Amino acid sequence: MARGERAAETESGASLPSVGTDAMKRRVTYFYEPCIGDYYYGQGHPMKPHRIRMAHNLIVHYGLHRRMQVNRPFPAAEADIGRFHSDDYVEFLSSVSPQILSENSHSHYRQLKRFNVGEDCPVFDGLFDFCRASAGGSIGAAVRLNRADADIAINWAGGLHHAKKAEASGFCYVNDIVLGILELLKVHRRVLYIDIDVHHGDGVEEAFYTTDRVMTVSFHKFGDFFPGTGHIKDIGVGAGKNYSLNVPLNDGLDDETFRSLFRPVIQKVMNVYQPDAVVLQCGADSLSGDRLGCFNLTVKGHADCLRFLRSFNVPLMVLGGGGYTVRNVARCWCYETAVAVGVEPNPKLPYNEYYEYFGPDYTLHPEPSNMENLNTPRDLEKIRNALLEQLARLPHAPSVPFQTTPSIIQVPEEEEEHMDIRPKRRIWSGEDFDSDNDDDMASSKNSVLTAQTSSRCGGDVMDED
Ligand SMILES: [Zn+2]
Repeated sequence: MARGERAAETESGASLPSVGTDAMKRRVTYFYEPCIGDYYYGQGHPMKPHRIRMAHNLIVHYGLHRRMQVNRPFPAAEADIGRFHSDDYVEFLSSVSPQILSENSHSHYRQLKRFNVGEDCPVFDGLFDFCRASAGGSIGAAVRLNRADADIAINWAGGLHHAKKAEASGFCYVNDIVLGILELLKVHRRVLYIDIDVHHGDGVEEAFYTTDRVMTVSFHKFGDFFPGTGHIKDIGVGAGKNYSLNVPLNDGLDDETFRSLFRPVIQKVMNVYQPDAVVLQCGADSLSGDRLGCFNLTVKGHADCLRFLRSFNVPLMVLGGGGYTVRNVARCWCYETAVAVGVEPNPKLPYNEYYEYFGPDYTLHPEPSNMENLNTPRDLEKIRNALLEQLARLPHAPSVPFQTTPSIIQVPEEEEEHMDIRPKRRIWSGEDFDSDNDDDMASSKNSVLTAQTSSRCGGDVMDED
């Protein structure tokens, strides 16, 4: 039977086709590395790749995998990663390991400092394989979109938006998004990048700050919050002037407020910029109750961004990102997968391997909190007007030179002597994320990946076609 023409699911957790424009078919391709959930940043660390396995498990138990093409990504090669990252940084990532660091030499210490690896971004077993899988998924997604094999390409292991050319940052080492966009630019003239993670999408913005071939739009908490960038007046430079859009927000952002900004701003961007492809970073730390975030979005409010972008029917890459209350990350990315394929899943969760994480409600849609929304109507009006004014300054569908890849902004590398004194903001206070909550059942339930076992993992349900 042809994909997308199967009868409605009959198993528990059945998904019903949604109505209206949502029901219009999109060919969806999905990248999932079965080993991804075994990578482990370390005890107490909030970033848990296990959340991607949890999302995948829900997706499978809802039967969503039968409505899309499921792929195991090819690991990105060093040369692929080197299209954005510096050679010495790639060389470092590919060779470092906890075992090597235990030798404790001075040159290792200097390299860790230089590449900002250590606290937020620790060296863990299989680190480079994790990066290769994440980046391989986003590059693979771009290849599928370039070949017009799919309308929507999903990689929940991607979206690592803080990684810089020669520096790890905010739990991100390799910027799969920049690599995916560079691949898209081989075929598409203009790419729009939209970031709804609670943190500013600084690594992607920086990479494309001087070009009009990529427009970046980031919605984020601004003010005494990691990474500290993303001021509304940061709009790009040179040929990229006005092609970076920043939407600074405050604590307690709710669905209605978010929608009242997102929809008009993105509608205007789509009209004016007319992108040939769109990349949506769906960082789930903007959800209510996130352990590092401070917004109050529901899963439906978060997914409304994807629903809106899907309606334009422009090639769309959908990526993960942050998200530190793992049960909600799994809910969100499962629901967004359903939105991508055009079905409305039963809110009652089907039984799944991680069922105990989702109690006591066992629903796909937990209620938001009663926290105060500090985004006032007056602030929002000012922000919306400033952004619409910036967009009014853009030419319609800029005819960018197509034959050349845009130059990636060259940030001068710091003198090593100054490394020790530069202030480094941290995304995470260092508070232990395992001791007092159920979010790290993964560490007890699943074995920690070691270099020796990395080739033996697997076993998750993949495409049955
Ligand atoms: Zn984030």
